[in-house]
Amino acid sequence: MSSDTIFALASGRGRSGVAVVRLSGPGATASLAALTRQELPESHRAVVRDIVTIDKKTIIDQSLVIFFAEPNSFTGEDVVELHLHGGPAILTALFDQLAGLKGLRPADPGEYTRRAFENGKLDLTEAEGLGDLVNAETEAQRHQALRQMRGALGAIYDGWRSELIGSLAHLEADIDFPDEDLPGGVAAAISPRIRELKTDLETHLADGHRGEKIRDGLDVVIIGAPNVGKSSLLNILARRDAAIVSEQAGTTRDIVEVHLDLAGYPVTIADTAGLRDAGDMIEREGVRRARARAELADIRILMTAADDPVIPEDFADLHRPEDFYVINKIDLGGAGDGPTGSLSLSVKTEAGLEEFLAALETEVVRRLDVSGAPALTQLRHRLALEECVAALERFLVAGEAELAAEDVRLAVRALGRITGRVDVEDILDVVFGDFCIGK
Ligand code: GDP
Repeated sequence: MSSDTIFALASGRGRSGVAVVRLSGPGATASLAALTRQELPESHRAVVRDIVTIDKKTIIDQSLVIFFAEPNSFTGEDVVELHLHGGPAILTALFDQLAGLKGLRPADPGEYTRRAFENGKLDLTEAEGLGDLVNAETEAQRHQALRQMRGALGAIYDGWRSELIGSLAHLEADIDFPDEDLPGGVAAAISPRIRELKTDLETHLADGHRGEKIRDGLDVVIIGAPNVGKSSLLNILARRDAAIVSEQAGTTRDIVEVHLDLAGYPVTIADTAGLRDAGDMIEREGVRRARARAELADIRILMTAADDPVIPEDFADLHRPEDFYVINKIDLGGAGDGPTGSLSLSVKTEAGLEEFLAALETEVVRRLDVSGAPALTQLRHRLALEECVAALERFLVAGEAELAAEDVRLAVRALGRITGRVDVEDILDVVFGDFCIGK
């Protein structure tokens, strides 16, 4: 348990109907006593209290107060929540008083959740799920984060880990007291199950990065010759879709990105704008960047125009069967002919636009579907799982019992690092450093 008592604004900044200030630690109750003239309320009961200055001369605000007695609180420590009116002067006055109380200090980023983890209230995947939930901007992100916060991923990893610990116990017992009745020893006996487990891990890993993409957004790129209407399509998507998350310039001046919420899934659509005939050096660089970006994208929208049905040579080989081939400007007449599965539309008249959007949505949902088994959401998990698979592979070819046991031990440790069951010190800062203060 920490000796410091921490405080922070738990709700958003700015004027609001209600602002919540949270105190956690051994001094939370004494602080509450100093700030009210009354005795400690019952745990988990909301009560109305005047919040006063420590010298009791001034009332700062009238507040709804909730006390959570340890260990039944978010952090596992004594926690006090002050629900004040959300005005800047109230908060400034309150923080002045709190800073003057002994043993109190402002919380560091993520410190509440870190304390909750350290007190066994949640594991690391649940803490990460909570962070993602606060940052979720689309329905799929919210769904995935909530599920993770409630332990769905942690349960999978813990289940695998428990099983391996069971195997390890048998292996170690066999080293000390070999079982004459088992030909090939325990290692041979547990190999089939280890092989199955390795397959389960590999299946979980081979998810097309679904969970990670739900966190970061699916990457869609529009490519094609100049003037076929790429920017116009991007603009209309950005304007029509009521649920634009944010709009920002891309990583390079040549690429414009729009972040959209398509059917609840986060999608980044990039227009390789600025791309012109690859005449001079700068223009060639533009083509190179557009190409590089298109190669890395999850979905490519290859665009031509009915009056100019040419695909630039630079992009012709980039098209994959699951990509989109869109013929724009059908209002100009001309042949709308493209390869099978191509879609014709006019950004100008919006003919065919609904159909295109529906097809794009269907493809996005197909790739990121959150209704199935929980997907791994962080590179950190992926690396640990890969380490675990490698250790299991070594186990399956290891000859000596001692070596086999060591491989299983390493596999157990790799899984334990995901949920935070073993030597986690080095990764704690990574996990909690991304949190904002007050969480
Ligand atoms: P980009 O260079 O591929 O990004 O193309 P732009 O989006 O800048 O469009 C080039 C020109 O084509 C602009 O003048 C647009 O107004 C026009 N344009 C875009 N879509 C259509 C369409 O569906 N029909 C017609 N007639 N013109 C269009």
